[in-house]
Amino acid sequence: FELERLGVHDSVEAVFPPSELADFLADLPATVDVVGDDEIAACDAVVTLEHREAFLECDWVHSIQAGVDRFPFDEFEANDVVLTNSTGIHDRTVGETVAGYLLSFSRRLHDLLANQRERRWERPAWDDGFTLPGKTACVVGTGTLGRGVAETLGGLGLEVWGVRRSDEPVPGFDEIYTNDWLLEAVGDADFVIVTVPLTDETHHLFDAEAFDAMRADAYFVNVARGPVVDEPALIDALESDAIAGAALDVFEEEPLPEDSPLWAMDEVIVTPHCAAYTRDYFRDVGEIVRENVSRLETGEELYNRVV
Ligand code: NAD
Repeated sequence: FELERLGVHDSVEAVFPPSELADFLADLPATVDVVGDDEIAACDAVVTLEHREAFLECDWVHSIQAGVDRFPFDEFEANDVVLTNSTGIHDRTVGETVAGYLLSFSRRLHDLLANQRERRWERPAWDDGFTLPGKTACVVGTGTLGRGVAETLGGLGLEVWGVRRSDEPVPGFDEIYTNDWLLEAVGDADFVIVTVPLTDETHHLFDAEAFDAMRADAYFVNVARGPVVDEPALIDALESDAIAGAALDVFEEEPLPEDSPLWAMDEVIVTPHCAAYTRDYFRDVGEIVRENVSRLETGEELYNRVV
């Protein structure tokens, strides 16, 4: 298809100013501008955060997120709309966020910050703090996020295990388990970190059985998607001290409802789905779009094509 007009849909505003990306792409051989819902029909392609019915009239939709579970694949296929995503850019960002969660738990920073808010000079209990070298992290999903997490945590001295569908080794992981061994792998780890996409297969992958399998002194981290976790089962595990705590960036319902018990738990860190946020996010997405526009010109298969 011919690319004459590429719209940056204003839903990306939740992640970065749409005009930053439009400016970054201004030298493309097409008109690039920020578009609202009523201008979608005039675009051949859109870069977007959210889905809109009107996208089915376009030729190409690019998701600024890696996770594309919000897009109806069947309808895209039926309408000959190509869908590409932003996998491949969230390795270091999410890796460092996860490292931050772990350091917070090990050095008690979340606790100390809560005390500071109340002007309370209170040291952690003598046996609360620990260091990370020699601790084990089990990373479920060994794609971009998983590898970034493995590399960052490896740098902090943790031993890192990966859980994936095949038993092929992956750089940065000390040990690989296949999915069949999920419960054994999570059962031995100090930290369990979820980095799989949300699919029919991974929906509620972490349920009561998985939390039962975890050690009582282990921490759980979800930077993938909320519905990969059975949230009531996680809340039960936290309330009954079956696990030590959790750092959660994603939830079954977002924003996390005000009455969720997760907000107020001492050993739970809640972040608002921002594990990959940096000031460079729009540039990283822009490079993928640029690459794909040049592939369109040469007739090559688009990079990160999902549908
Ligand atoms: P990716 O495609 O690079 O990696 C996904 C990996 O998961 C692949 O290796 C794939 O083989 C594996 N996988 C898929 N189904 C599996 C299964 N059933 N069992 C085991 N492994 C399975 O994608 P990515 O960039 O690493 O992102 C992964 C997911 O993380 C995204 O789909 C998105 O939902 C989420 N994400 C969240 C944030 C955030 O801000 N919290 C940021 C980026 C991505």
